[in-house]
Amino acid sequence: MLKLLKEILRTGEATVKYPFAPMEVCKDFRGKPEHRAEDCIACAACTVACPANAIQMETDTAAGSRTWSINYGRCVFCGRCEESCPTGAIRLSADFELAVGSKADLTRKAVFTLAGCACCGKPFAPAKEVDYVARLLGQTARSEEEAERLRLTVATCPACKRAQDVHQIATMGIARQMDARHSEAGRSVKELETTP
Ligand code: SF4
Ligand code: SF4
Repeated sequence: MLKLLKEILRTGEATVKYPFAPMEVCKDFRGKPEHRAEDCIACAACTVACPANAIQMETDTAAGSRTWSINYGRCVFCGRCEESCPTGAIRLSADFELAVGSKADLTRKAVFTLAGCACCGKPFAPAKEVDYVARLLGQTARSEEEAERLRLTVATCPACKRAQDVHQIATMGIARQMDARHSEAGRSVKELETTP
């Protein structure tokens, strides 16, 4: 008996008090991903990276909004969302208690406003993402004019950018044709002048 008591004292507690006391987890534990909407720019990088399709994005251009959502019921706690997030808006936490009373409670959502295109005014991308990219590009600009040009490019929707490119290419083509015609006309005048 004494021997058994000694063994128990030497071993200490073999079980944990959870759920009556908080469960301690290791430093790199991969628990529930926590999303901070205030830091999120709705860029959709986590949506693309998520292998379980737990994170979804829905863009409603008519309402001018993009809805970010996560379904914890699908999450496999791989951490790809945290790795891909450019702003640190989503991080795995130490929380592993996911039990809920209803399936709908496993989903969390955040709604973001879309920015209107600087050219046509149609909503096309999350305003926070446009600001973020414009700020980043602005840091690389060598002058105020260049920063403004970059900001305008970022704030223009893909359809307007395509239309502007087509217009620019067409203008360059016309200018090149006109140059060619002028040089041809110049040559003809010179030939006439030198003809006896
Ligand atoms: S931890 Fe993995 S599965 Fe869960 S939301 Fe993030 S990327 Fe998706
Ligand atoms: S990657 Fe980060 S910033 Fe982009 S949508 Fe996901 S949580 Fe938001």
